[in-house]
Amino acid sequence: MFQKKINLLNLSLFISFTSLQIIAADLIEGQSGEIIPIPAPQDKNEDQLTFKTSSGIKQLISLPFVKQDLMITRHHLDVKVNWVNFGESRITITDSSKVTLSDADQARANKEAIEIKAALKNSTNEITPSFNFIPPVPGRITSPFGKQRFINGLPRSAHLALDLSGAIGTPIVAPLKGKVVLVGDYFYTGLTVILDHGYGLFSSYAHMSEIQAQLGDLLEQSDQIGKVGSTGRVTGPHLHWTVYFDGNKVNPESLIQEDFLNSIL
Ligand SMILES: [Zn+2]
Repeated sequence: MFQKKINLLNLSLFISFTSLQIIAADLIEGQSGEIIPIPAPQDKNEDQLTFKTSSGIKQLISLPFVKQDLMITRHHLDVKVNWVNFGESRITITDSSKVTLSDADQARANKEAIEIKAALKNSTNEITPSFNFIPPVPGRITSPFGKQRFINGLPRSAHLALDLSGAIGTPIVAPLKGKVVLVGDYFYTGLTVILDHGYGLFSSYAHMSEIQAQLGDLLEQSDQIGKVGSTGRVTGPHLHWTVYFDGNKVNPESLIQEDFLNSIL
């Protein structure tokens, strides 16, 4: 009996020691605007996209853009999001009606924001995203993700997209298979298309001169979406490319790296 008690004590000590080790080894952290893997929950539901890796079954989550290091809870896990200095950009918009909006323009912009949010609400599970993006245009990066913007000297929200250079008319292609879930002409983003790549992964294409896709189209990777332009609120022609995943805008720059998915799993 005495021996048994000792064993039980040892067992409980062993268990608490290993749990501590697991906690220490499993500090989950990543950078502002990054997609990172976490262990998939045991009771995963059908809607969850998971990946088998040598260290177990993983799911991908997004980390929000942060202005300082932050501990957050995502998918029931404590995650440390590390701040990144993405720099700042100061732009001048001479058309003051695009900066200080009239009541009518403000009402339009508000209505459009609701429309865009609605398009991002439900993602299809009929497409399984490979996460192996190709660049939507061949251009160089003119404004990275996360830059703090100042418009006419006043601080505005950070630039949570990637700007790629391109002359007017440069073809824009689907960087990944996706379904067209929004097509429209918007106050800020001009001619705009949003693709749903499945499982909460979306991407949007703004300021186009021409749209060559229709609502509901299923585009394969490399299929043409439209052409680079300067519609909406812009300082010149370029592609403003936004990627959304798991409820956050994420940094598109890392996604176009070679073999992105394997590099993070
Ligand atoms: Zn932009």
